[in-house]
Amino acid sequence: PLVLGIESSCDETGVGIVRGTTLLTNTVSSSMDEHVRFGGVIPEIASRAHLDAFVPTLQESLQAAGVTLEDIDAIAVTSGPGLAGALMVGVCAAKALAVATGKPLYAINHLVAHVGVGLLEASNGKSDAAAAAGVGAGPLGAGTLAAGTLPENLGALLVSGGHTEILRIRSITDDVELLGSTIDDAAGEAYDKVARILGLGYPGGPAIDKVARQGNPKSIRFPRGLTQPKYMGTAEEKGPHRYDWSFSGLKTAVARCVEQFEARGEEVPVADIAAAFQEAVVDVISSKAVLACKEHGITNVLLGGGVAANSRLRELTGQRCTSAGITLHVPPLDLCTDNGAMVAALGAQLVMAGIAPSGVEFAPDSSMPVTTVSVPA
Ligand code: ATP
Ligand code: MG
Ligand code: FE
Repeated sequence: PLVLGIESSCDETGVGIVRGTTLLTNTVSSSMDEHVRFGGVIPEIASRAHLDAFVPTLQESLQAAGVTLEDIDAIAVTSGPGLAGALMVGVCAAKALAVATGKPLYAINHLVAHVGVGLLEASNGKSDAAAAAGVGAGPLGAGTLAAGTLPENLGALLVSGGHTEILRIRSITDDVELLGSTIDDAAGEAYDKVARILGLGYPGGPAIDKVARQGNPKSIRFPRGLTQPKYMGTAEEKGPHRYDWSFSGLKTAVARCVEQFEARGEEVPVADIAAAFQEAVVDVISSKAVLACKEHGITNVLLGGGVAANSRLRELTGQRCTSAGITLHVPPLDLCTDNGAMVAALGAQLVMAGIAPSGVEFAPDSSMPVTTVSVPA
């Protein structure tokens, strides 16, 4: 099926078009530049930017794919989670398009879409950076995925700006189970906060990823949250947070560390701190994810979310999965951060699985749980 996907949950206006598991176009307009001076996304500004960007983004996407709205079989839109006002712009546009064209509309979960994008084939000449670097396998769709069929024992590691979760996926269209998650900050949030502490600006993830390459990750040892025995327990008697993460203590430890250098009148070793912080985040994310997979018999893992663009996370998770006999599927970099193609990719899975569309009565849900893949009619 030819599916058009619309994304507007945060500061990216995205329209993507897929045919089954083949990516045709992925057009993204970001209002990031307008938020930089505030050090974070301002919801009202993001909503207005979606309003300005939606129609040109839609037109560009259709044109690049060489298709018209009449050719489209279904429309998919992010219904949550995300910023309420931002979601409303995309949802309203999608409903209007669906009514005007008579096409079925799917209201889908942004987080599941971050994971579902891994089912696309690496088409359009987009090579998978991680696969090229020899870490992990490429996207699951690359030659291995017959339409709508997934391997059994599939999991997903979702690491984004607002969420950090390990999921068991029995069916990407209607059976997603949460095995573990962060109990405070998300990984992306921690990157953004630490970048601010280090004066690296916004968004913090790419900035820390870059500067960390010049630093020594072993120069400082930052805490790994929720790894003490009382939280972990044993394989037989699992502790209360065996598969969960916590990043707020790490953020505080970085702040203390910077204060100490400043109090001594010493220059703050920004690159070393960034590298040591990144190592702490990536170490605990990958070790707990691999543990959860091993103990649930998961043998294939889809990596997803904006922080999945992080080079060290891709590398270490890839290595640890390989050692554990788990295949990690890593999407191309430009499909990790928010975009419309991921929404279209999940929409196509829903169509192929014969799931009923959502109609046009639904309201966006800023805190939609990851277990709700799409809104039922
Ligand atoms: P959610 O998907 O949970 O609703 P979101 O849509 O705001 O949140 P994403 O677009 O998935 O988040 O990801 C954005 C986050 O990814 C930001 O926190 C950003 O700092 C982080 N990020 C992007 N690139 C990198 C990178 N190379 N290394 C680390 N973090 C990164
Ligand atoms: Mg964004
Ligand atoms: Fe996102």
